[in-house]
Amino acid sequence: MKTYEDARATLEELELIENAVTSRLRRNPEIFYRNIDEVDLVEHSGRFDHIPSSQKSANKVYTVKKSRRSRKQILAQEHEIKSFLSQYLKDCQSLGRVEFDMSEYRVDNGSVNKLLEHIERIKEIHPKDDEFGDQYAMFSSSTPSNKNIISRKAQNLDINSYFTRDEQYGEYLDLEPFHQKWLSVVKNGDVTLLQFLSEVEKFTDQRYLLQPAVNRNSSRYREFVASLHHYLSDYAARAYPLLSWDLIHAKAQELYHTNVAKPIPSGESGVFCIPCDKRFKTDTVYNAHLPGKRHVGNLHKNSSFLTQEHSLHIFCRYLSRELARTREFVERKLAFTTEERTQELERLTDIYDSPVYGRQEQEDAQEDENKETEDKEDSVLDSSMNLPLGPDGFPIPYWLYKLQGLDIEYPCELCGNFVYNGRRQFDKHFGEQRHVFGLRRLGIEPSASFKGVTKIDDAKQLWSHLRSTSSGRVSSEGKLEVEVEDEDGNVMSKKVYDELKKQGLL
Ligand SMILES: [Zn+2]
Ligand SMILES: [Zn+2]
Repeated sequence: MKTYEDARATLEELELIENAVTSRLRRNPEIFYRNIDEVDLVEHSGRFDHIPSSQKSANKVYTVKKSRRSRKQILAQEHEIKSFLSQYLKDCQSLGRVEFDMSEYRVDNGSVNKLLEHIERIKEIHPKDDEFGDQYAMFSSSTPSNKNIISRKAQNLDINSYFTRDEQYGEYLDLEPFHQKWLSVVKNGDVTLLQFLSEVEKFTDQRYLLQPAVNRNSSRYREFVASLHHYLSDYAARAYPLLSWDLIHAKAQELYHTNVAKPIPSGESGVFCIPCDKRFKTDTVYNAHLPGKRHVGNLHKNSSFLTQEHSLHIFCRYLSRELARTREFVERKLAFTTEERTQELERLTDIYDSPVYGRQEQEDAQEDENKETEDKEDSVLDSSMNLPLGPDGFPIPYWLYKLQGLDIEYPCELCGNFVYNGRRQFDKHFGEQRHVFGLRRLGIEPSASFKGVTKIDDAKQLWSHLRSTSSGRVSSEGKLEVEVEDEDGNVMSKKVYDELKKQGLL
């Protein structure tokens, strides 16, 4: 039987959970903002349109004067919050079952002793606050040598049990196993991973219906859809644990029923009927076929597969950012040298194997520091209010900045020591005006050979080398002979010119 005391303890726990969730959101607003971004994708409701995007990205990164949480930490905390919330729900349900025994708490007339007894009991109860507080607080189990961002309550939470290394805590999708499956669906071993990703991207809109790579009725295709759908819906729930995926699944079902009953515009060739997998020249013909045996039969026969395929389409839309990041990562990997690929693999493995909260990170120190440090932090904050800029000149989130390697600086002496952020921008700049102008200023005619050269001395040396092997002549000592012209336009070496001049023959 639940008693007053149980109810009191439960209410107290509810409050502690609320505080625990609040403190995490306050410390790292990105937990909130990254989820509303996803809700926008899921709902299309414009529920958060009133929040300017600048504010969203600014809050994601910099409103807190503390070190930024890594993706691994964010996901670990989100899964932790999720476990808190499920406890919260259980608590709320248990409160409904509380039966009060009033007699225990009734104070008889004049029985002061009993009252005092109660007061003593309340005092005894009090220390429990701290016990609970510790359990839900961040860093509760920290010791100087072993810090853990996760509370004692959720200490068994292992974020690596939710993600594989290659998924990087929801950064990328691990689609390589599905690429293998796809090869047997299309019965073509030549389809590259990138080509396969394009096929998956067809599911983000209606191209999967209008331009399917294979017959959508084939059993292999259907098996493939089932397994990819299973992976993506599971992934979505792991990558965004705080969203109500049960509701989202239900919504996808609902959308299916409206979608399947609608003709899909199919470019110039009329409309497309999903259950019949067939094009119709006009709406009239389409409408006429709806009550027919064939359409009704197709709808009935294919309904469970079509629901799943539609759900896959919805999940691809929800995960479109993850898909895009995965594609970009695959493209980047293809451009890597073997060494770079090894390095990248090591980096990902390091992130995966390292503790959620690194030893070097200084959270508590910053929290406890006095005013002086706060001032210092203020100045750090001020300068960091400038979000990192992407290649298009707009602020981008820090993780993307890191992903694109924009934190790596490439200075170029030929451009007056201008610093390029990120390999892509740097590689591109050799054909751009600033760089070309820098070369011309040194008397060098830009050509493909100068790509990659950033030092003035190197450029000069290469220029003289190029001239010596093409138009210039090399003297016996291996030095370049400078050619000069006399007044009549006769070309001769400077040495000869000087000799003749000395003799007064010119
Ligand atoms: Zn039909
Ligand atoms: Zn340059």
